[in-house]
Amino acid sequence: MSDFDVIVVGGGNAACAAAVSARENGAKRVLLLEKAPKGQRGGNTHFSGAIFRFVYNHVNELDRFLPGIEAEYPGFHSGVQPYDEASFRGDLMNVTNGRSDPELSKILIDQSYDTMVWLQESGKMKFEPAHSVIGVKDINGNYKWPKGAFVRIEHEGVSLSATWFKTAEEAGVEIRYDTSAQSLIQDSTGRVSGVVARGPDELKAISAGAVVLACGGFETNPAWRRQYLGDPWEHAKVRGSNFNYGDGLKMAMDIGAMPWGHWGGCHATPINAEAPDYGQRNLTDKTNRLSYPYGVMINIEGKRWLDEGENLQSYTYAKYGGSILKQPGSLAYQIFDSKVLHLLEPRYSTSEPLKSDTLEGLVKQLKVNHTEAMNTINAYNEAAGHGGPFNPAALDGVHTEGVTPAKTNWAVKLDTPPYVSYPVTGGITFTFGGLKITKDGQVVGSDWKPMAGLYTCGEMVGGLFHYNYPLGTGLMSGAVFGRIAGRSAGKFAAAM
Ligand SMILES: Cc1cc2nc3c(=O)[nH]c(=O)nc-3n(C[C@H](O)[C@H](O)[C@H](O)COP(=O)(O)OP(=O)(O)OC[C@H]3O[C@@H](n4cnc5c(N)ncnc54)[C@H](O)[C@@H]3O)c2cc1C
Repeated sequence: MSDFDVIVVGGGNAACAAAVSARENGAKRVLLLEKAPKGQRGGNTHFSGAIFRFVYNHVNELDRFLPGIEAEYPGFHSGVQPYDEASFRGDLMNVTNGRSDPELSKILIDQSYDTMVWLQESGKMKFEPAHSVIGVKDINGNYKWPKGAFVRIEHEGVSLSATWFKTAEEAGVEIRYDTSAQSLIQDSTGRVSGVVARGPDELKAISAGAVVLACGGFETNPAWRRQYLGDPWEHAKVRGSNFNYGDGLKMAMDIGAMPWGHWGGCHATPINAEAPDYGQRNLTDKTNRLSYPYGVMINIEGKRWLDEGENLQSYTYAKYGGSILKQPGSLAYQIFDSKVLHLLEPRYSTSEPLKSDTLEGLVKQLKVNHTEAMNTINAYNEAAGHGGPFNPAALDGVHTEGVTPAKTNWAVKLDTPPYVSYPVTGGITFTFGGLKITKDGQVVGSDWKPMAGLYTCGEMVGGLFHYNYPLGTGLMSGAVFGRIAGRSAGKFAAAM
C-alpha cells in the first residue's frame, strides 16, 4: 500500500484547491508538500491582490459573494454590466492574440462561476469588491466597476492563502513545510507512484497513488529566465514568491512531459523602481504602479515609447511591465499633474514621488536626458486634449493628435501644478510556459499520451496565456484546474 493516496506538490492557490478537491473525491490520505518554511508559505498566492475573473450572466449572480453591496455602493445593481462567456472569451483571446488554448480556455470560462461557488462553499472564502484597485469613480462620483474582474477575497492574498491552509487542515490534508519535491518516482509500468522529497532533516521517497504538481512557474529562476525569456529578464525584480524555480516543470519534463504554451512569455507589471528584489510579505502587491493611463511615461532617453491609454489598465498592465524592463536601464518615470492625483491607486502611497511646481523643475530631478524629456512633454502637451470629455472610468477617447506614439485615451494635458513623478521598473509576476494537460488535468507526455498518475494545475499549466493576460485570470485558472486535478487524482488513486 502507498504512503498516501495523493501527494500535492506546492502550497499556493492551485495546490490547496487540488488537495481539498482530492479529499472531496475519494482520496483518504492526502499529503501537501510546501517547499517554503511555514512563515513563508503560500507562493505567489500570498502576495496576490486575490481578484478573480469569472462569468456572471446577471448582476444578481454576484449577490451571494457580495451581500450588502447595494447599501455600501448605492447604484451597484444598476451600474454593473453582465460578463458572459463570450465576453470572457473575447477578453482572453484579444490579449493573447487569439492564441489561448481553445480547450483549456473553454474549461476555464465555463467552470469559472461554479468554481467561485465552490471556493465559497468548500474553500470557505469570503469576498469583497476590489474598490482600492479596480473601482474608479466616474464623473458623477459613482463607482464604476470594470466587467468581469473586480471581486476579490476579503483581505486579499494574505487571507486567501491563510484560509486555504486552514480549510485544507480541517479537511484532513497533512501539510509538510520546508519540504521540497525533488523528483518523481515511477513504477515499472511508468505510472507516477510518488516523489523524492527533501525535508529539513532527511531525503525521503514517499509513495502515492497519484501526484499533483502545483508548484508554480520559473519566475524566481534567473538562469531559466535568461534561457527562456531572454535579455534582460535575468535582472528583473520578482514581485512575489522566491521559491518558484520551475522545479515541477523540470521534474515532469525529466520523465517525458510535454512543454506547452508560451515559454518565452510572462506576466510582468510596472512596479516601484526601488522595490525589493523579491516580493516582501508585508508589502504584498503594493509595489504596483498601475495608474499610468492618467499620465505619461518617459524612459531615461527622455522619450515616450508606448500608448499609456491603449486600454483599461487591467488589459495592459501585464505586458507594460516587460515593456518598461526592456527600456534602457530598465527604468522609466510616470509623470502626473495635480488634477489627476486623486485617481492614483492607494498603492502609490507606499513610496514618495518626486515633486515640483514646474515641469522643468520636475524633469531636472529625473535621471533622464533633460532636454529630450522637456521636448517630449511639450510635444505631448501640444498634441493632447482632443475629443472628450475626460472620463477616468471608461475608454473616453481623449487623445493626442500629431505625436508618436499616440495616446488614445485619457490624454489630458500636463498643465496643473504641482507635478509629480514615480520611478518605475518592470517586475516579473509569473511565467506563461507550462505543461500540456488533458481536460481532466492529467499531464500529457511528449508522445501525446496522458501520463498515468501525474496531474498538474496553476501556473504550471501551459497554453492559456500568451504575450499578455487579463487581470484576475491566474487565480481563477488555479482554482478551476486545481479543483479538476485534485478530483481526477483523487478518483484515480481511490480506484487503484
Ligand atoms: C504581487 C502579485 C499580485 C497578484 N495578484 C493577482 C490577482 O489579483 N489575481 C490573480 O488572478 N492573480 C494574481 N497574481 C497571480 C497569482 O498569484 C498566481 O497566478 C497564482 O498565485 C498562482 O498559483 P499557483 O498555486 O500556481 O502558484 P503559487 O501560488 O506561486 O504557489 C507555488 C507553490 O509551490 C511551492 N513550491 C515551489 N517549488 C516546490 C517544490 N519543489 N516542492 C514543494 N513546493 C514547491 C512554492 O513554495 C509555493 O507554495 C498575483 C501575483 C503576484 C505576485
